[in-house]
Amino acid sequence: MALRIYNTLTRKKEEFEPIVAGKVGLYCCGPTVYHYAHIGNLRAYIFNDILRRVLALDGYEVNHVMNVTDVGHLTSDADEGEDKMVKGAEREGKSVWDVAKFYTEAFFNDTDRLGILRPSVVCNATDHIKEMIALVERIEKNGYTYEAGGNIYFDVSKFEKYAELSRLDPDSEKQARVECDVGKKNHADFVLWFTNSKFGNQDMQWDSPWGRGFPGWHLECSAMSMKYLGEQFDIHCGGEDHVPVHHTNEIAQSEAATGKHPWVKYWMHNAFLVVDKEKMAKSEGDFLTLQKLVDKGYDPLVYRYFCLGAHYKQQLKFSWDGLDGAKNTFNRMKEKILELKDKELSNESDYQREKTDGYFDTFKTALDDNLNTAQALSTMWSVLRDDELNPGEKLELLYRFDAVFGFGFKEMEREELDVPDDVAELLSQRDAARAEKRWEEADVLRDKIKEAGFTIKDSPEGSVLEKVD
Ligand code: AMP
Ligand code: ZN
Repeated sequence: MALRIYNTLTRKKEEFEPIVAGKVGLYCCGPTVYHYAHIGNLRAYIFNDILRRVLALDGYEVNHVMNVTDVGHLTSDADEGEDKMVKGAEREGKSVWDVAKFYTEAFFNDTDRLGILRPSVVCNATDHIKEMIALVERIEKNGYTYEAGGNIYFDVSKFEKYAELSRLDPDSEKQARVECDVGKKNHADFVLWFTNSKFGNQDMQWDSPWGRGFPGWHLECSAMSMKYLGEQFDIHCGGEDHVPVHHTNEIAQSEAATGKHPWVKYWMHNAFLVVDKEKMAKSEGDFLTLQKLVDKGYDPLVYRYFCLGAHYKQQLKFSWDGLDGAKNTFNRMKEKILELKDKELSNESDYQREKTDGYFDTFKTALDDNLNTAQALSTMWSVLRDDELNPGEKLELLYRFDAVFGFGFKEMEREELDVPDDVAELLSQRDAARAEKRWEEADVLRDKIKEAGFTIKDSPEGSVLEKVD
């Protein structure tokens, strides 16, 4: 089956047809590095990663580009709201540049721990000011801009297809969430270049044909995606919050500059992770990071498993119970894989090719149907439970599945337990008691071992200690 994906632009699931055969240009909106990523943001990058891996599974060569927003990012185009980078710098008593460097590293530390592959190109907004200025010059030359109060605005009334992606009335509140800026001609107009920010403490400023200033916040994604992927490319991703403003404005700027339509063929958006029905807001201060989950004893990959259990287009409710459920399932999966690795592997000549191919087809069909990861996981469980498959066949299939799951099945190994001497002694006494069928004594010893924080798993190969959480 060919890959089918849901395209926000057409509001339909469509067969994916690349612009250039065999290749995919993929752009994903990246982090704003003024604070740690919260686990909602990380859901977006897990979705991007799955998409990229499924495209690779389908045989495409993927050029995956992601920006890092390290320049002042106003929440609104009317120069309202806060400059997030400045806010981060003030909070930490550092320069904006140091804040950006610190949180960029923290971001990749999180994504590495989540098994997210690094994009082929990671580009910083501050390294592409020249390209952004050149883009505004093109938009200006084509007659889509005006100047007001020292800032250069994009005039949405000049761009006919403005509502194509959002399907919203440009004058609606949703389209431009902030109070109307007196300089604007239309409610949804937005700033391409600021020279007159009301924020006096703007550290990051550059010279431009319109005066010293800084770019509007949508500009970087248009400028950098076109630099690395060309003036028209295949897929653009982001969270669903980006549909009405950020992505709508990216399209307007890009098509106004190039005159080419469509700028991007497929738009894909992930639904939000919510906590207590509220969105996870980084600006709220108290938010859940991956490190907070790790500090509570969760393997980062448990969070990846939690996300893959839901469809990316469905809102996902975060709860500790839900995460515990994912943890138990993840640990059971891990244990089964480790058991398979312990067993004798099959001999090639008996290989049940038809059966394993059948499973692989089912797995791929699920993913090719707009990335149904939950269904793909359920196929994995069918393989784990199939008594007719031998351990070698199961492992081979699981390793192929892992090209998309990204759990690192091949590298998975039992964690070396740090067992105190007295517990090791109790265990050997219990093994001796069991060998001599002194069952009551063995049970007493088991309880003592439990009190010391370990449980015992008995198997034909012997007893193994596990740490109690
Ligand atoms: P930001 O760092 O705020 O620019 O956001 C990075 C990415 O995370 C964007 O694609 C957002 O749309 C996405 N995002 C933000 N909050 C959430 C959330 N609660 N759940 C899923 N995705 C989110
Ligand atoms: Zn973007």
